[in-house]
Amino acid sequence: MSPADVCAPGSPFWAVFQEAAKLGLDPDFFSQFEPDVAIRLESLIGEEMGWGDGGLGISLAAADFPLQMAMAVGNQELVELCTGKIGCWMITHPDKGSDIMVYDMKREWPKDQTGNKGNLCAKVGNDDIVINGQCSAWVSNGAVAQVALAYIAADYGNGYFDADGRPHGLAVIIPLDLPGVSRGKPLDKIGQRSLPQGEVYFDNVKVPRRFAAALQDEYYGNQSSAWSYAGTHMSQVFTGVARSAFELALQYCHERKQGGQLLIDHQLTRYRLGDMMRRVELARGVARRSLAYARLSPHTHPYATASAKVTVTEECMKVVSEALQLFGGAGTSREYPIEKLFRDARSALIEDGENYIITTRVGLLCQQLYAEGWSQN
Ligand SMILES: Cc1cc2nc3c(=O)[nH]c(=O)nc-3n(C[C@H](O)[C@H](O)[C@H](O)COP(=O)(O)OP(=O)(O)OC[C@H]3O[C@@H](n4cnc5c(N)ncnc54)[C@H](O)[C@@H]3O)c2cc1C
Repeated sequence: MSPADVCAPGSPFWAVFQEAAKLGLDPDFFSQFEPDVAIRLESLIGEEMGWGDGGLGISLAAADFPLQMAMAVGNQELVELCTGKIGCWMITHPDKGSDIMVYDMKREWPKDQTGNKGNLCAKVGNDDIVINGQCSAWVSNGAVAQVALAYIAADYGNGYFDADGRPHGLAVIIPLDLPGVSRGKPLDKIGQRSLPQGEVYFDNVKVPRRFAAALQDEYYGNQSSAWSYAGTHMSQVFTGVARSAFELALQYCHERKQGGQLLIDHQLTRYRLGDMMRRVELARGVARRSLAYARLSPHTHPYATASAKVTVTEECMKVVSEALQLFGGAGTSREYPIEKLFRDARSALIEDGENYIITTRVGLLCQQLYAEGWSQN
C-alpha cells in the first residue's frame, strides 16, 4: 500500500488498532502477574506481533509510549489524556539523529563547541510551555498519532545550554490536536511500510507546564529510561521477524526440488537451516534477558538494553538474508513475502538508534567503567 493509503480511513491499519484494543494488553494487564511471568508474557506477545508484521508490532508499541510515561511519573491527568489514544515517541529531529545519544559531552563532543539542540525547542514558563519547530520524518506513528511523548531542547529562562554546552531538555506529553500542530506527508520508505512515519510541525504550540514528564535535571535520566524500554521492545519484535523468515525458509525447503531431491534433503541446506534456528534462539534469549534487566533492575542503563537491540536486529538480518538466499531467484520476487521481511529487517538496523552508534556507546560505557576501576582489580 502507499503511505497515504495506510493512513486513509478504512485502511487495515485502523482495524489492527481496533482489534489490538480488544486484547486489553495495556500496562495494567501485565501488572497483575509476578514480574518473571509478566516478562515472559510481554516477550511472547512482542515476538508474536513481530512474527505477524514488524511495522505493526512497532506501531502498536510506540502507540503506548506516552501512556507508559504518564503512568511511570504517576500523573493521573496525563494517564487519562493518553488512554485509548495512538501515541508516538518524538526524539529525533531533522538535524539531530545519532546526536540524541550524546550524554557524555567531555568524551564525545569536540572541545569548546556547544551541543546540538536540534529543530524542536521549548520555552518553559511558570505555567505554560511554548513549543516551536519540527520532529524528524522518522517518528513512528508521526503521521497518525493523537498524542506525543516529546524530548526537546528547553530554555528555562537561562538559555538552551548548560556550562558544558549540553542542551537543557524537557520531556513533555503533547496532545496533537492543539492549535499550531500540523503534519507532513506520511513517509515513503523501503521497509516497515505498515508503520506510518512522518514529521509533525509546531508553531507556537502552548501546553500547560503540568504536562511535563521531566524538567531540567530530571531530563537525561528520563530520556535514558524511555530509550531503555524502546530497545527491549525492538528486540522482541525482531526476534519474531527472524522466526517468521526461518519458518518460511523451512517450508520452502520442503517444497522446492533441485539436484534430484527436495532442498531439505541436501546436507548443506540443512546446515543453513540449523544455523538460522540457532540465531533465532540467540535473538530470543538476548531479547528476554534485556526485558528482564529493564523491568527488574533497580537502575536500568540504556546502553545495556540498546546493545540487545543491536544483537537481535543483526541476527535477524542474517536470518532473513539467508532465508531469502534459500528461496533463490524466487526470493527476489514480490510473489513471496520473504522480500518484505528483508526490507523490514533492514530498517531495524537504523531504527531506534543506528547500530554502529549504539555499539560505540556500549564501548563508551566500557571506557567509563574502566576509568572507575572496572576489571582492574
Ligand atoms: C523504521 C524507523 C523508525 C523510527 N522511529 C523513530 C521514532 O519513533 N521516534 C524518533 O524520534 N525517531 C525514530 N527513528 C529515527 C532513528 O532513531 C534515527 O534514524 C537514528 O537514530 C539515526 O539517526 P539519523 O537517521 O539522523 O542518522 P545520522 O545520525 O545522520 O547517522 C548517519 C550515519 O552517520 C553515522 N554517524 C552519526 N554520528 C556519528 C558519530 N558521532 N561518529 C561516527 N559516525 C556517526 C551513523 O553511524 C550513520 O551510519 C526511526 C527510524 C527508522 C528507520
